[in-house]
Amino acid sequence: MGLIVQKYGGTSVATVERIQAVAQRIVQTVAQGHQVVVVVSAMGHTTDELIALAKAVNPQPSPREMDMLLSTGEQVSIALVAMALEALGQPAISLTGTQVGIITEADHGRARILHIPTDRIRQELEQGKVVVIAGFQGISSSRTLEITTLGRGGSDTSAVAIAAALGADGCEIYTDVPGILTTDPRIVPDAQVLPQVTCEEMLELASLGAKVLHPRAVEIARNFGVPVVVRSSWTDEPGTRLITPTWRTIPHRDLEVARLVDGVELDDQQAKVALCNVPDRPGVAAQLFGALADAGINVDLIIQSIQAGATNDIAFTVQRSDLAQTEQVVRQFVGQWGDPVTCHVSAAMAKVSIVGAGMVGRPGVAATMFSALGEAGINIDLISTSEIKVSCLVDLANATQAVRVLSSSFKVPVLPPPEAAGEMTPVRGAALDDQQARLVIRHVPDRPGSAACIFLALAQARVSVDMIIQSERVTWIDGRPTKDIAFTIHQDDVERAQAALVPALAKLNCEYLAVDADIAKVSVVGSGMVRKPGVAARMFASLGQAGINIQMIATSEIKISCLVSRSEGKKALQVVHQGFALDQATG
Ligand code: ADP
Ligand code: ASP
Ligand code: MG
Repeated sequence: MGLIVQKYGGTSVATVERIQAVAQRIVQTVAQGHQVVVVVSAMGHTTDELIALAKAVNPQPSPREMDMLLSTGEQVSIALVAMALEALGQPAISLTGTQVGIITEADHGRARILHIPTDRIRQELEQGKVVVIAGFQGISSSRTLEITTLGRGGSDTSAVAIAAALGADGCEIYTDVPGILTTDPRIVPDAQVLPQVTCEEMLELASLGAKVLHPRAVEIARNFGVPVVVRSSWTDEPGTRLITPTWRTIPHRDLEVARLVDGVELDDQQAKVALCNVPDRPGVAAQLFGALADAGINVDLIIQSIQAGATNDIAFTVQRSDLAQTEQVVRQFVGQWGDPVTCHVSAAMAKVSIVGAGMVGRPGVAATMFSALGEAGINIDLISTSEIKVSCLVDLANATQAVRVLSSSFKVPVLPPPEAAGEMTPVRGAALDDQQARLVIRHVPDRPGSAACIFLALAQARVSVDMIIQSERVTWIDGRPTKDIAFTIHQDDVERAQAALVPALAKLNCEYLAVDADIAKVSVVGSGMVRKPGVAARMFASLGQAGINIQMIATSEIKISCLVSRSEGKKALQVVHQGFALDQATG
């Protein structure tokens, strides 16, 4: 006999019939001898409707009253599910977040869970009841009972957190698709179900727009080793298993805020190749990285920044031992592309990274890293960001100091570099995010602390930054070197970001340029791409063959993202999905 937490999403409880079907499934699980805790979302589009109602009364409702309103959606569905269970003769009790005593931060609308007492839940289970708990909600203190919500899609997080707190044997997320798919089925109908996915892959995919599982739920599963599956509410198919660590720790406090960063990593074998004035046309990146892949050279970070004219800058890193061969390949292209293209090689570089699932959605972590390096006088050459890792390329001479500074400012150990993937498929899934806008800041002084100044200002305004790209090209202003910095943020954050940047840009004495919302970001994710040549080349080739121009490129170890124009976003996702044969079922 085990203890199972089952979560049912909005569509799964959208109608009376569906609630009855859910009740049947719960009763079957009980009949198999399990104790069952159920977490439910609000029915159908209730939360959207409540938001519309609030906006009709007040265009800018206060966050406290908003939470008071939104938490009612889940209160309706828990009572109905409990009633449906009772109708089947199954004893059940519904509990709100307040009744369970789920304590969160006081941050209305995006509160993180701190503590889940389990005594009441266990008492009810012991009496043979199914316990039906409202997802998405908690209280900020057991004294004031102020109601909080976790943020849209947050019932997944409630479910996995409750499973962690109870030390449950499993957490099953029931939804309206058969599991986690290779991409969004609404855009690519032949997306396939993944039998399994790692937490790192899922964190990237979820944050890139695969809203099937809330990233914070994945973070909790990873941190506490909760076994999670995502399955369809309508069928008995096995769904997708999230590969979580085998350790099982039961969190007692600071459930979602305990660990921001796990450790610091160093790769001191990096070399950088920087190309300026590369022609800006479809297929160019594919040509270059295709030739490198053919030569068996594994490219680590790739960055292509935007330029005003008809040329781009592309910088990438390889292992130092591959540098001579890389240069040979690159020179051949520089010859072909003609005169204005320049190539600059830095053999002695190192990549320092901070890693940890706790940095998801916390904009301050990257900024803290940049400022720790800035204060130590270490200049950042390239930046690569992913959901759970921020890497900075620095001069090899600064590597040891960089690692020391980061390890002491985050109070974390130095970790060994990640292992090369075995025989995993290099790409597990693809995602499209067309909710982003790109900001470009021109003429940022190329000196320690500049990036920190910009990204601390954004972090203070609670703006999460996604891709960050620093140009290779140096422009001399008043005798000092400057570079351009481009980054992407959520469209809704543009005004807040602009306001937050005013003092920072004045301090850096730089010219603020453009906001461009006509972009879409297409990404591929897979743990199997670590140290495997040719993955980026294949993505660029798929886009190039479809005549889609790549405006910006940024990579991390397990993700490659390309910005394209918004109108080409869906097509880009489709060709990339096909290019990696993700439409063929995997075993
Ligand atoms: P629930 O209400 O059950 O929480 P959501 O609407 O939050 O369900 O999430 C499920 C939806 O996520 C699916 O209906 C699907 O349209 C969308 N989706 C986007 N990307 C993916 C993906 N990679 N795999 C599965 N579903 C995805
Ligand atoms: N009802 C909430 C929402 O729509 C929480 C959830 O469904 O996960 O965002
Ligand atoms: Mg959801």
